[in-house]
Amino acid sequence: MKFNTKVIHAGVHPDSATGAIMTPIYQTSTYVQDEIGVHKGFEYSRTGNPTRSALEDSLAAIENGKYGACFGSGLAAIDCIIKMLNPGDEVISTNDLYGGSYRIFKTVFEKYGIKFHFVNMLDVENIKNNINENTKLIWVETPTNPMMNIIDIKAVVDLVKNKNIMVGVDNTFATPYLQRPLDLGADVVMHSVTKYLGGHSDVVMGALVTADDKIAEEIYRIQNSSGAVCGPMDSFLVLRGIKTLHLRIQRHCENGVKVAQFLKNHPLVDEVYWPGFEDHPNHDVAKSQMKNFGGMVSFTLKGDDIEKSKKIVSSTKLFTLAESLGGVESLIGHPSTMTHASIPREERLKSGVKDSLIRLSVGIEDADDLVSDLTNAMS
Ligand SMILES: *Cc1c(COP(=O)(O)O)cnc(C)c1O
Repeated sequence: MKFNTKVIHAGVHPDSATGAIMTPIYQTSTYVQDEIGVHKGFEYSRTGNPTRSALEDSLAAIENGKYGACFGSGLAAIDCIIKMLNPGDEVISTNDLYGGSYRIFKTVFEKYGIKFHFVNMLDVENIKNNINENTKLIWVETPTNPMMNIIDIKAVVDLVKNKNIMVGVDNTFATPYLQRPLDLGADVVMHSVTKYLGGHSDVVMGALVTADDKIAEEIYRIQNSSGAVCGPMDSFLVLRGIKTLHLRIQRHCENGVKVAQFLKNHPLVDEVYWPGFEDHPNHDVAKSQMKNFGGMVSFTLKGDDIEKSKKIVSSTKLFTLAESLGGVESLIGHPSTMTHASIPREERLKSGVKDSLIRLSVGIEDADDLVSDLTNAMS
């Protein structure tokens, strides 16, 4: 089945009890047993719920994996991955990553004896220098948030071949429409479903997908033991969102090009970070591992003028000032004071997150209206 068919059909079947074509919202905590241990596959909704199962199967299919697991948030999904490790284990992570991922690594898991190395993965040689016998996980985020750096997933996978090291990819920005890390050899894919997969800014959810039986067994054990699951109503909303994923991302990409080009020619703008530009440092990798370049665009202002950028983010009318991304509506954010405020300034600057940096999640409105909104806010 091709991707555009999978988003509509994979994992979902007409309801066997009623014939309902849409997966019902099974708003139930428990399930009747005919006698002890005899049931229809569901016992308790932390362990499994039919609406969530349909979504988990759909996600597994569109990522070309075998197993999907959904969580109460993207960070709960990351929490599950790190809980597969033991004290003394080491993780090598992208240095320029989602602020909340940095925070859970540093402030939650470090005290349990897990060590995190944050490295610039634009050059995969930097990973090599940090690998030792304790290394158990390479955590890759690409494109990175908010710098839109591109990391060569296949090169990372090749580096740890035949070593007992898992490669996990945060595929939130690209979505499986643009990039499928499991096809490139990664072991597990993570999503903040909150963003493009949900797509309508109405759900907080996370997911993991893998094709590996052993990893899946661990994921389900932790999902059930720690209990950070999502509810049936949210699962239903995301099942609905996924049906238009291909159409939405196509339009996000079309609008993304137009906004990126507009910014590149704007006199106030210093740098525009968007992997579709030929002079983007890893444009060739982006072209080979992604189908298109997405709708996330970041830019800085000349003189790194933070006051001007604060003014811009509060002057746009269509681009709404808010955290998050990936919804149908356009959003604008100021990473250094919002999404990335939890990262110390020196760390932030090291990965290029300057004070004036503005991040856009370009929505699927009319591109001309989006460009005029930015024109007005920047004049
Ligand atoms: C939002 C986000 C997360 C965290 O997901 P939540 O659903 O907010 O918990 C992780 N990674 C990336 C790239 C994100 O954008």
